[in-house]
Amino acid sequence: MTASHSVTGSHSVTGQTAAEEADVIVVGGGPAGSTVASAVALRGHRVLLLEQQTFPRYQIGESLLPSTVHGVCRILGVEDEVAKAGFKVKRGGTFRWGRNRDPWQFSFALSPRLSDPTSFAYQVERSRFDAILLGNARRLGVDVRESCQVTGVLADEERVRGVTWRGPGGEVHEARARYVVDASGNTSRIHTHVGGKRTYSDFFQNIAVFGYFAGGRRLAKPNDGNIFCAAFDEGWIWYIPLRDDLTSVGAVVSRKNAAAVQGDPAAALRRLIDSCAEVRELLDGVPRATEAPYDQVRVRKDWSYWQSQLWRPGMVLAGDAACFVDPVLSSGVHLATYGALLAARSINSSLAEGPDALDEARCFEEFEARYRHEYGLFYEFLISFYDMHRDERSYFWKARKVTNVGAPELEAFVELVGGLASGDSSLAGPGQVGARLTAASSDLDDVVGRLPGSDGLRNPLYESPTFRQTFQQGSVLQERGLFGGPLEDETPLRADGLVPSEDGLAWLEAGN
Ligand SMILES: Cc1cc2nc3c(=O)[nH]c(=O)nc-3n(C[C@H](O)[C@H](O)[C@H](O)COP(=O)(O)OP(=O)(O)OC[C@H]3O[C@@H](n4cnc5c(N)ncnc54)[C@H](O)[C@@H]3O)c2cc1C
Repeated sequence: MTASHSVTGSHSVTGQTAAEEADVIVVGGGPAGSTVASAVALRGHRVLLLEQQTFPRYQIGESLLPSTVHGVCRILGVEDEVAKAGFKVKRGGTFRWGRNRDPWQFSFALSPRLSDPTSFAYQVERSRFDAILLGNARRLGVDVRESCQVTGVLADEERVRGVTWRGPGGEVHEARARYVVDASGNTSRIHTHVGGKRTYSDFFQNIAVFGYFAGGRRLAKPNDGNIFCAAFDEGWIWYIPLRDDLTSVGAVVSRKNAAAVQGDPAAALRRLIDSCAEVRELLDGVPRATEAPYDQVRVRKDWSYWQSQLWRPGMVLAGDAACFVDPVLSSGVHLATYGALLAARSINSSLAEGPDALDEARCFEEFEARYRHEYGLFYEFLISFYDMHRDERSYFWKARKVTNVGAPELEAFVELVGGLASGDSSLAGPGQVGARLTAASSDLDDVVGRLPGSDGLRNPLYESPTFRQTFQQGSVLQERGLFGGPLEDETPLRADGLVPSEDGLAWLEAGN
């Protein structure tokens, strides 16, 4: 076996104590790394996670989607802890975008699959959110080691067999495992060991400059936790309320502006905010934050890319190591955690013994097909979304076209931007059906009770979300007949494909 191309330069791996062994080694402790590590540990496998930084560490990407909060976090058993952390509740998004000069908005509650109690996500301080996920992995038995940098990948002709890594004191180690997961984000080079190449989109080649403000005006309730995205001549600006006294603000502009932005990021951010009337007003008189790590203005290239190969025997990519689309629909953490969950299912089914065992190549082909499908939905939709000559109705129509879920247009849009377009019902959550039925029946009780006292001008039935949804479901059923139907968990994504197990942690043959 060789230490194949060391990532940060070559070094000797001789003269050490015997290599450690695990079932799975995860590189990186961001959302993708914690998710895959936890989901594999939940099936009883030994996981070693190596993270080069010490948590809590700063990361951008603060606006989450319901699929992460209620889907992945529930599967990992960390949904309650995240709920108790006091993050700002995000019920949807508000956009000054496209031909329409007035802001328009969507709420996650517009989709029946995201109805109460799951019709929201959070705006999170990533240092805290990521630390919660990593702490949960530790509690589930993952051997998490911080300040440990993976420097190379061990492989032979057949497969990847482990990694080399450097500990906090600079000492070099080897660790071996059946699988290595690269979840090391967008700047590391570990992904090169999978082979293939990273392709950058010709379309999304932007640069982001972002900072934090000590407060800022809020949209009217109940939309006060919405992400607000405002397009202006030079690009667009995000405005994310993190706490009453903290707002994340970033401008995304074409790479042609890179030199100006990189020269003096703070001045560039100020100038861009001043050119966007809506955000300028929200921040009028509000100073920049002075607490670390929010006291800096940072710049990041946010080009869209994907890897031509997402796995090889013994190694798999997840999160930004695999692909990145664009920040505007807040899909980064969703794609990272969903991709990580798909990778974990493939590892769990390949490591399983007895009747649950599945062929490795089949499992990882399923992972790759679903991951590319989800990435593709966002990518294709975003190409139209960046066309500012359209209005919101045209965006909703496009969402329905790319997702092909057979839902009405606005719902298709909400499901896409809620992270549920994959149709993977483990994300929507079988356990929520009971809660929804209870909520629906008390809602119906309430409106029926109000019928006798109604003024005859307005029927209380039409104010009831349950009643409205029933009509919507009817139209979904009609459209299922017309369009061939939505993707559902029982339906494999492709012929001879696999479906998720009920706990969302492994693959099953369809029909089992
Ligand atoms: C401008 C911008 C705005 C964004 N806004 C949003 C948003 O609002 N919502 C959203 O969901 N997403 C957003 N994103 C995307 C989001 O930041 C990422 O998609 C997300 O952080 C990916 O998670 P990850 O776990 O793959 O990687 P990361 O969060 O980057 O974690 C990777 C980890 O690996 C560690 N690591 C790296 N190399 C090594 C090594 N050799 N050995 C050991 N450890 C290593 C790193 O220290 C890091 O902790 C945005 C991105 C950009 C560029």
